[in-house]
Amino acid sequence: MTTTVKSYAAFDPDSSLGAWDLERRVTEPKDVAIEIRYCGVCHSDLHSAKNHWGNTHYPLVPGHEIVGVVSEVGSDVTKYKVGDWVAVGCLVDSCGQCGSCHENEEQYCERGYIGTYGAIGRDGKPTQGGYSQKIVVVEDFVLRVPEGLDPASAAPLLCAGITSYSPLNFHKVGPGMKVGVIGLGGLGHMALKFAVAMGAEVTMFTTSASKREEAARLGAHHVVLSTERAEMKATFNTLDLIVDTVPVPHDLGGYIRCLRRNGNLVMTGPIGLQEPPLNNGLLIMGRKAVSGSAIGGIAETQQMLDFCAESGVTCEVEMIAMDYINEAYERLEKNDVHYRFVIDMATL
Ligand code: NAP
Ligand code: ZN
Repeated sequence: MTTTVKSYAAFDPDSSLGAWDLERRVTEPKDVAIEIRYCGVCHSDLHSAKNHWGNTHYPLVPGHEIVGVVSEVGSDVTKYKVGDWVAVGCLVDSCGQCGSCHENEEQYCERGYIGTYGAIGRDGKPTQGGYSQKIVVVEDFVLRVPEGLDPASAAPLLCAGITSYSPLNFHKVGPGMKVGVIGLGGLGHMALKFAVAMGAEVTMFTTSASKREEAARLGAHHVVLSTERAEMKATFNTLDLIVDTVPVPHDLGGYIRCLRRNGNLVMTGPIGLQEPPLNNGLLIMGRKAVSGSAIGGIAETQQMLDFCAESGVTCEVEMIAMDYINEAYERLEKNDVHYRFVIDMATL
């Protein structure tokens, strides 16, 4: 039997989010039912709630940085038991058969992964996210929260964490490498902490003069105010890798100039055309690349959670109540969050 649970949903692009009764599917043999305790607030939640990508179906329950406790397991579940602390990130299913899925990169499933919200799930119904009391997810897409990680501040690791960890991991960041991070927000502050923990020399690019000291406190070896031409120029030709987390189209030219020969700028921000158009002369003269990266696979996400528990990397969070979500979105749009809101789901 399906269960009705409380949730918070967006009903159209312009109104506030509000309470909604949501139906969760029955717990099938391979399913884990999770009582949600904490959910992070990602900029993608806002993009989706406001239909910035033009593909939102309403009502929509956002939230893909989910941490909770197992409340029920299906008869075939082997990895989890009732009472375990677990987590769910941006994806809840994939085809399991394509090359990407076989190589543990379900985020690049050739048939398209099933997102935690805004997709169509196994039951043929829209998937709905973590701003809710409970979620039912197939065992293979559930992560274990390692001992030693604070469950509340672990929530943002499930999207902001893995999205920033994955390109650093893919490019084998380590001692001797010089890494840049653009945008000190949810993703950016995690990219900064991960790159420092991996042993790189890290340059933080920010548009906010007020974040200069914060960036240094979080471990940045250099902080560049990207609006200051002289500071940018002093960084030209120095970096091996840049992780770009800016949530709006923006000029890449200055950042590409900061890459050394063979350098790579990895975009994680919004999907769509960039403005202004890119001058490819900046790439050709230096064999440089602009690339992209999406979240991470399930195995890599578990690896990232374990890395955090071992290395002590944590997210900087501001805990909020569920009914603060509309103000939280306004503050996110105004770039006024240090550095991730996490909803205490007990307040729902
Ligand atoms: P966020 O917390 O709002 O942080 C974005 C940061 O970018 C801001 O703190 C700000 O840093 C900078 N910024 C904001 N507006 C800017 C502007 N107009 N020009 C230049 N810089 C600006 O957002 P987030 O949650 O980290 O998400 C960042 C982006 O990644 C979003 O578009 C989100 O949808 C996307 N995302 C992608 C993936 C993926 O898999 N690829 C996963 C999750 C999220 P400063 O003040 O330091 O400049
Ligand atoms: Zn996200």
